[in-house]
Amino acid sequence: MQVSAAVTEASSERPATHDIVIVGGGLVGASLGCALAPLIERFGWRVAIIEAKALPDTSDQATWQPSFDARASAIAEGSAQRFRQLGVWQEMQAEASPIQRIHISERGRLGATRLSAEELGVEALGHVIPNAWMGQVLHRRLQQLPIEWHCPASVTSLTPQAGGQHHLRLSNGSELTATLTLLADGGRSGLKEQLGIQSRRHSYEQTAVIAHVGVSQPHHGVAYERFTADGPIALLPLPGQAMELVWTHPSGGEQARMALSEQAFLSQLQQAFGDRVGRFNRLGQRYCYPLSLVTAEEPVRPGLAVLGNAAHALHPVAGQGFNLALRSVMDLVEALAQAAQHQQPLGSLAILAAFERRRAHDRANVIRFSDGLVRLFGASLPLLPHARGAGLIGLNLVGPLRRGLARRAMGLER
Ligand SMILES: Cc1cc2nc3c(=O)[nH]c(=O)nc-3n(C[C@H](O)[C@H](O)[C@H](O)COP(=O)(O)OP(=O)(O)OC[C@H]3O[C@@H](n4cnc5c(N)ncnc54)[C@H](O)[C@@H]3O)c2cc1C
Repeated sequence: MQVSAAVTEASSERPATHDIVIVGGGLVGASLGCALAPLIERFGWRVAIIEAKALPDTSDQATWQPSFDARASAIAEGSAQRFRQLGVWQEMQAEASPIQRIHISERGRLGATRLSAEELGVEALGHVIPNAWMGQVLHRRLQQLPIEWHCPASVTSLTPQAGGQHHLRLSNGSELTATLTLLADGGRSGLKEQLGIQSRRHSYEQTAVIAHVGVSQPHHGVAYERFTADGPIALLPLPGQAMELVWTHPSGGEQARMALSEQAFLSQLQQAFGDRVGRFNRLGQRYCYPLSLVTAEEPVRPGLAVLGNAAHALHPVAGQGFNLALRSVMDLVEALAQAAQHQQPLGSLAILAAFERRRAHDRANVIRFSDGLVRLFGASLPLLPHARGAGLIGLNLVGPLRRGLARRAMGLER
């Protein structure tokens, strides 16, 4: 990884200085950089990543990028296979906890669905990996690649030019012009809006409180999803007797929980979750995430593709956001490889539109799946709880349906 000097282009035509510029070096931007490695080597592309926040190897958590905070993510088996392709899986696995079983239930109802790796003949249904570790592994790999790295530096303006190129101004004074700009900024920087790309937004009026918790019984690699009247509670297995908690609250309600003492928080969690993992006995730092469904209406344009959270931010109930984004990353890289082989320009709308058509189906399915779960378990129609309980029991009895659910959870189904 080279730290490039400022590239200042005075001419108004601004010929491309870079083949590809990735805006955002979070989970998605960093994975994209790694996935481009073989093409950079083969075609000699000039690629830059611009990341606003300092790299994750600092000891000060407050300066980590949004992707690489204290969360741990459920990485589906399909994503593990993709990380293998990127050559980072072996290192990533060092801090990964395998998910052997998934247990889905609803508080106060009998229904429960169990999915197991053994039954499906796979080693694990997925893996729980601390985001900070994924960040370190991806950035270590990026350091071995001939990719320019502007960090910390944020893109302050992104201007389309004739021919589909984009001109980027950076907060450090650099200016770049890219044949293809890949926007992986998480969707909160205002760049999409600057380009006039609208997003559809639906606030769930829910906030997730996340924290590491200690449990008194071994979790045996089980990931729990428990639907309660307030919203879903997910517990993901971490090494030893620890689990990652994602506790969804109606927005506003999380403040009271954030203010609770450790003991009071754990006792309320115990009451809401029950005792399937024994007693909750330790609590790490708590963080809050307001939850919305956001989808970009125009994910591709000539010379531009929007990826990751900037393209789709989902409810974390099914742990699908990054898994979906990684599939897009791999599909995009494949589309670019084909474009290069056929000597088509990288920013060609035909290439990007074909990529988008390929992605639309998978994205719609995942959104329907995650959003459907939130709506189904959030609705309070009188007969619905019984139907949900029966549904969970029924799902347990119907092998193919359950296996379908498992394949989707593993990221093997599109
Ligand atoms: C509580 C919670 C739990 C989740 N759990 C899971 C899970 O278990 N499994 C799963 O698959 N997904 C999960 N997700 C979703 C997952 O976290 C996201 O899909 C993923 O973080 C998106 O990464 P990203 O790189 O697109 O965006 P971000 O993480 O937001 O990263 C964007 C990067 O761009 C940088 N940036 C922003 N603006 C600029 C700019 N102008 N110039 C330069 N750089 C800029 C930022 O500093 C940042 O590093 C969860 C989400 C939440 C909220």
